[in-house]
Amino acid sequence: QAKSAGRNTLRFYDPAMQEAMLARAALETSLRAGLQRGEVEIYLQPVVDAERRVVGAEALARWQHPERGNVPPAEFIPLAEQCGLIHQLGGHVLQAACDQLVRWSRSPASSTLKISVNVSARQFHQADFVRQVTDIIDRSGARADLLKLELTESVLLDDVEATIVKMTELKAHGVCFSIDDFGTGYSSLAYLKRLPLDELKIDRSFVADVLTHPNDATIVRTILALAQAFSLDVVAEGVETEEQRQFLMQHGCALFQGYLFGRPVAVGQFELTGD
Ligand code: C2E
Ligand code: MG
Ligand code: MG
Ligand code: MG
Repeated sequence: QAKSAGRNTLRFYDPAMQEAMLARAALETSLRAGLQRGEVEIYLQPVVDAERRVVGAEALARWQHPERGNVPPAEFIPLAEQCGLIHQLGGHVLQAACDQLVRWSRSPASSTLKISVNVSARQFHQADFVRQVTDIIDRSGARADLLKLELTESVLLDDVEATIVKMTELKAHGVCFSIDDFGTGYSSLAYLKRLPLDELKIDRSFVADVLTHPNDATIVRTILALAQAFSLDVVAEGVETEEQRQFLMQHGCALFQGYLFGRPVAVGQFELTGD
């Protein structure tokens, strides 16, 4: 016990814990270097309309680690948040998204496609977040209204007043906003009304069970009705089957994302049809 060990003794770490800490520190070092070396890139996953026409894409970060291969964002985004690299990583992702918008702007077939970028809590709450985003947009020459930032409910509720200020500033610049994983957090109707939002994304956990669990079907229908009442677009995430798509369409969903239409792919592989 810590108490009986006395006041002046050092803490003992068990070897497993120490090993985990060293592994994390090593991963942090290689993420820092990897960012510098350009190992972090974006993949694009199509967002399609009811006719399966591609209307945009979500940018998803991928880290091509020299030894470990493709490290999923679930592993390195939280790490980047903890060690303060998220600002740089987030900037890199925004830059890549804006560069892609500029490439798409050169052809009429792709010039109105939007790109959604995920923004994590710590990144959004950085003091100069608004400046970071507007600088990247302006320097790249991308159209701000084709850039959408995805925030989660927890980010929005962290500090509502400060959040509204930041969102309003970016909105004035033309940037659009989406709530990601909607339905999994705690946002209230009062906030929905106050935030300058454009879109809700139904979390894929609800979509996955929409045909088999009546409660999930109810949640999905409620989100669609809510969005309609607030004049927000809705994207259903994680659509994997035609039956899910049918259910969503029948209840008024007009935008879809999921393996049914396309997996995230490297920017060079992205195609303009959703099947
Ligand atoms: P998210 O923003 O909710 O992104 C959707 C995730 O669902 C992606 O996982 C995507 O590959 C996956 N997905 C899409 N369609 C389907 C489907 O039909 N079935 C299934 N099972 N999965 C599907 P991914 O790329 O592993 O990203 C995981 C999370 O990591 C993202 O969730 C997002 O929260 C975070 N993330 C990714 N890129 C970034 C980034 O650049 N910045 C930040 N802050 N977070 C990021
Ligand atoms: Mg997202
Ligand atoms: Mg999501
Ligand atoms: Mg998510």
